[in-house]
Amino acid sequence: GGAMANRRRVLLKLSGESFGGGALGVNPDVVAQIAREIAEAATEVEIAVVVGGGNFFRGAELSQRGMDRRRADYMGMLGTVMNALALQDFLEQAGAQVRVQSAISMTQVAEPYIPLRAVRHLEKGRVVVFGAGAGLPYFSTDTVAAQRALEILADEVLVAKNGVDGVYSSDPKTNPDAQKFDRLSYQEALVKGLKVVDSTAFSLCMDNNMPMLVFGMEPAGNVTRALLGERIGTLVS
Ligand code: UDP
Repeated sequence: GGAMANRRRVLLKLSGESFGGGALGVNPDVVAQIAREIAEAATEVEIAVVVGGGNFFRGAELSQRGMDRRRADYMGMLGTVMNALALQDFLEQAGAQVRVQSAISMTQVAEPYIPLRAVRHLEKGRVVVFGAGAGLPYFSTDTVAAQRALEILADEVLVAKNGVDGVYSSDPKTNPDAQKFDRLSYQEALVKGLKVVDSTAFSLCMDNNMPMLVFGMEPAGNVTRALLGERIGTLVS
């Protein structure tokens, strides 16, 4: 099959938290729902996904409890691969074609990360799921989402959030007066120290003119909406 010209190409960041449905590990019902939403948009939009791993391990948390940070970060990265495989499975059940690429080589379960090949998959209409983060300790999957979006020449990064529907002036869970932004500049996000996405991800996007949409996964259908280009949540640019 040949490439389909001029289609919208996006990088979707999913947190590990969303895969666990608030608990440790993978909740199949939750992942199946996310997969159906992605598969629905995949017929029209080229979709790459970066999955987090917070439903398994976060390196920073394990290191606070006595583990070496670098080794704990590798555990965190391996958790993201489990999420990637779960997503692959439910995406295939929803009728999508999927390739998983891992930044840490494990060729039995995933292709190695090869950017040009990822682009080729996208052109053929396959969903590409990136696992194992950047393969580097001290990075977050938010930052990897920004980097992968740049490297595969995505039009924008879509950051899906649980429990919050965009970027607020302060944490809406603790401050009832927090105001939601419809639009926001990277400069503002960084100066105000807004932590909804990590600052390394913000600055990488700012320096390279990559727009970012931060949106909530609730209500159902929001992931499809964001993938198709609806302006929900907060646009950071
Ligand atoms: N991680 C890492 N390098 C990367 C990506 C992830 O070391 O390039 C580790 C890090 O320990 C992180 C964990 O993997 O805490 C899970 O990723 P993240 O916290 O970004 O997942 P999310 O919060 O999105 O679920």
